Amino acid sequence: MIVKEYVLSRKEAIKNEIAKASVIPCLAIVQVNDDPASDAYIKGKLKDSAEVGINALHVKLDPSISEEELLKKIDELNNDPSVHGLIVQMPLPKHISEDKVKLAVNPAKDVDGFHPLSTFVACTPKGIMMYLKSEGVEFAGKNAVVVGRSNIVGRPMAKLLLDASSNVTVIHSKTTEEDKKKYLANADIIVVAVGRKWFLNSSYTLKDSAVLVDVGINRVDGKLHGDIEPNLPVRLQTPVPGGVGLLTRLALLENLMEAYNKNN
Ligand code: NDP
Repeated sequence: MIVKEYVLSRKEAIKNEIAKASVIPCLAIVQVNDDPASDAYIKGKLKDSAEVGINALHVKLDPSISEEELLKKIDELNNDPSVHGLIVQMPLPKHISEDKVKLAVNPAKDVDGFHPLSTFVACTPKGIMMYLKSEGVEFAGKNAVVVGRSNIVGRPMAKLLLDASSNVTVIHSKTTEEDKKKYLANADIIVVAVGRKWFLNSSYTLKDSAVLVDVGINRVDGKLHGDIEPNLPVRLQTPVPGGVGLLTRLALLENLMEAYNKNN
């Protein structure tokens, strides 16, 4: 199933679950910036929530708010039993500590999975794993390569693949070109999260049975490009747009429902 269809079918299932529920699941989205990219992400989250019947609460605060006031607001939402999930949209104003804010969110409501004790898996790797499982991709004993080691994508992705018993290699900017070629040629599953247009391209030799996941979002000359050259001759390749972005948005809904079901 292509990503778009998979996401639609999961959203339909969530919608049906909520239609039968007596209490409406609620997601609070705290925004402390006037950033247009954040506005667009939040708009998407509000739209997704509305589509499945989640009550999304957009808490927009003045960017001049003090750190103390923001932490107080987060605490209020942490203690509000009608709020099941709570996310704070990044970036934050310079005078507010990102670490303090991430640690202030109740781990049981941290549906972004940013708190070190969060009971939730970060949305991008979670969405990717769910989709690959739905496609019948096997993990145990397979060679998985993750390109990129960021805290929000590369590292949690590598951990999930390891938890699924893949042999995991993480490649980064210090990996030699020779090693990159060697690891990629031997890979069954490749997840690329670098942030460089067509980082993985036809110059690399890949297994024709390989599964490629493209996390990258690169705007070049007004057009959106992934980290992987489109249509490489492999078993499965997620597109950009219409791939991991949709899976990430879906995973937030899945995490919210997980939080809701634990607390209702
Ligand atoms: P970061 O910039 O935090 O990390 C990029 C990683 O790529 C780093 O670990 C870096 O290595 C590695 N890297 C850079 N150059 C090379 C190279 N030449 N060879 C191998 N590795 C290299 O990015 P993110 O993980 O936050 O995001 C990656 C991409 O995914 C971006 O395009 C971002 O926009 C997109 N993204 C998309 C999401 C979605 O929902 N679709 C969600 C999140 C991100 P080193 O650590 O050594 O510097």
